[in-house]
Amino acid sequence: MPSRTLAGHLKTCDGQILWANEDAHNLLGYPLGALADMPFGDLLPIRSESKPDSDVVSSEDMEVPARGAIDVLRVALRAHHGRSILVDMRGERMDDRCILWTFGLAARGVRGERLDMLSRHDALTRLPNRIPSIEELGQTPHAHDGDSDRLLAVVYLDIDRFRDVNDKFGPSGGDAVLREVARRLRTALPPDAVAARVGGDEFALLLSFTTRQQCEALLQQLLARLAHPYRLQDRSARLRVSAGVALMAHGEQPTEVMLQHAQRAVFFAKRAGGSQVHFFDAAQALEEQQEQLFRQRIKEGLVRNEFILAYQPKVDMQRGVVIGFEALIRWQHPERGLLQPAAFVPLIEDHELVEQIGDWAIGEAVRQAAQWFALGVKTSVSVNISPRHLLRPDFIERLALHLKCFPQLHAGVLELEILETTAIKDFGAVADFIGDCNELGVPITMDDFGTGYSSLTYLRQLPVATLKLDQSFVRGMLEDAEDRAIVEGILVMARGLGRKAIAEGVESVAHGDALMALGCTLGQGYGIAKPLPADQIPDWIADFERSPPWGRTATVEQLG
Ligand code: C2E
Ligand code: MG
Ligand code: MG
Repeated sequence: MPSRTLAGHLKTCDGQILWANEDAHNLLGYPLGALADMPFGDLLPIRSESKPDSDVVSSEDMEVPARGAIDVLRVALRAHHGRSILVDMRGERMDDRCILWTFGLAARGVRGERLDMLSRHDALTRLPNRIPSIEELGQTPHAHDGDSDRLLAVVYLDIDRFRDVNDKFGPSGGDAVLREVARRLRTALPPDAVAARVGGDEFALLLSFTTRQQCEALLQQLLARLAHPYRLQDRSARLRVSAGVALMAHGEQPTEVMLQHAQRAVFFAKRAGGSQVHFFDAAQALEEQQEQLFRQRIKEGLVRNEFILAYQPKVDMQRGVVIGFEALIRWQHPERGLLQPAAFVPLIEDHELVEQIGDWAIGEAVRQAAQWFALGVKTSVSVNISPRHLLRPDFIERLALHLKCFPQLHAGVLELEILETTAIKDFGAVADFIGDCNELGVPITMDDFGTGYSSLTYLRQLPVATLKLDQSFVRGMLEDAEDRAIVEGILVMARGLGRKAIAEGVESVAHGDALMALGCTLGQGYGIAKPLPADQIPDWIADFERSPPWGRTATVEQLG
């Protein structure tokens, strides 16, 4: 690993040096304190010093823009006693008067290479802002040449939900926490490790050790240490940090690739709940890459209009009338044929794409309802909404826009189905969401009800119109006494709270009979109809209502 590198920092205001750190004095050969108050121009090269064809710049090239920074420049600075030293230097504007300069010795012989590790340090934490490459390590006296049983690990550290710290303590509080993270890294890591700040709340480490277990133990300790409270004046903040690790036998792969692997691994660490160490796994990464390609294909499918909605009837079995339709998405894939939602929806649940698909489905369902309406078919359509989509801040606004496009439609023409499990996880946000939808005249159904263990007290606070009994209990209720008991329990619950109940998975007339005997008159399932193409709906309604499978005049007693 490299020995400590000199990183000079100078602050200049209006062309005067205000302060300089110890490294700046050492690099320029000045006694400590001598640089303060010197004109910055005294250090700068004059034009004649730069060779015309080299990438060494003159002072004229060092204008720092009013906002931001200049990239790393190779500069021949004038050191003490008239010497000249070649440095890579970067200038970052702090305000309209002051600039922070960071510089280090230019790497010898790497002509044109601007992003040199020696000169690139992060101004906030004073850590390098990248980890060295294997070649750079090779040039340092401490590299493990010939030390073949040593392993190297590139580790990516990412603070879980760092945004919350910034929101709670402001940007200066966030900065203080990051500085403290850097300090803990410096003190906790072995002397031959390198730590860098590679992004806002992201750090990278380069570690050397002999076994994977040793590496894991070290990182677990490190995460525990980073999790200790951070004191900010009279308050304290807590962090959870995730670590992704890419291992290699020394010199096997470029650091760049290792860093990408470590970054993939930290993604998995976060996906598994965060605050943990995850080792890069090539098979997992390949799968992830394929999923990524598939998601890209879904995106294209949206643009190319390859998605369609199928409509499954929901009926009042007792009265023999159709009460509405559930819109169920399908993908008409040009090569793979008609794909069911199970083949693609789970892959996008955690992605922005599910919001786009959901938004498309709402728009399409409302458009379809309007088309039926024009044909004299006045019915309602329910659309399934994924958890991530419904929590979008502009969801209600978009929903209102979709409805506005078809002012001729009655309130209640659109319903939304949300999963019971979503409502349990984000109770407050979901309660607000349901309230807002109700205000727009869009009733909510709680789908797959019975799988999420909602309690009565909990449910009474959510203004959902309908509970949809999960099909697993309904399908099993004829043979399985426990399924039947669950169905009964949910129906009692719905009745007690004044909510409607509908059963999905009504696979036969016998299922319908059993449900009606328990007082559940609304149903949906293959025993009534499979999901159908939109153009078949008007005829299907007419047929069903002409001769429903359950007698129009039947009473609960007769059917029981
Ligand atoms: P879901 O909302 O619970 O929809 C009911 C699913 O059960 C549908 O499957 C339907 O075809 C099927 N089904 C209906 N009756 C019966 C029956 O009697 N027996 C059996 N075995 N199955 C029945 P599908 O269309 O494959 O949809 C599966 C799930 O995909 C849906 O479950 C829903 O969670 C999701 N989904 C469908 N369309 C969309 C959509 O537009 N957006 C989102 N986010 N999710 C959707
Ligand atoms: Mg549904
Ligand atoms: Mg369902």
